[in-house]
Amino acid sequence: MTEDRWQDFPEAQGGCQCGALRFHISAGPARATLCHCRMCQRASGNAFAPLYEVPDGRISWSGQPKEWASSNLATRGFCDICGTPLYYRSQGTTEIMAGTLTPDFPYRPHDNCGVESRKDWLATLHSLPDRPTSPDLLAGVVSYQMAEGI
Ligand SMILES: [Zn+2]
Ligand SMILES: [Zn+2]
Repeated sequence: MTEDRWQDFPEAQGGCQCGALRFHISAGPARATLCHCRMCQRASGNAFAPLYEVPDGRISWSGQPKEWASSNLATRGFCDICGTPLYYRSQGTTEIMAGTLTPDFPYRPHDNCGVESRKDWLATLHSLPDRPTSPDLLAGVVSYQMAEGI
């Protein structure tokens, strides 16, 4: 882990799907990493966690995230209304789950960590058949997620 993984990013915003929790992150150096470790898999309910790491002081919140200590080293933040996993916090930095950033934010991961637990099928994604969401389904969906306002 070297310090050169810190790169400059513009300001960011995002929040949970119900809108009770919103965050703003000022522009500056950050790290964009995909974490494949088993603890992130369990905390995110996903194959890996796309993380956007910034110093704690650069984040301001509207609403108060619920936290749970997943180890002696780290706390996980989430919305206790809609259940969205929001971050991993440890040692002065917060690693935002990148899926909660607004879609206009130029998140692009530059490395993988926790690769001892990486799912081998991730290497086959490019060869799987692609299927867009059905237009008929989309036409009938009434979303209860907060508009992202990009
Ligand atoms: Zn929520
Ligand atoms: Zn992890």
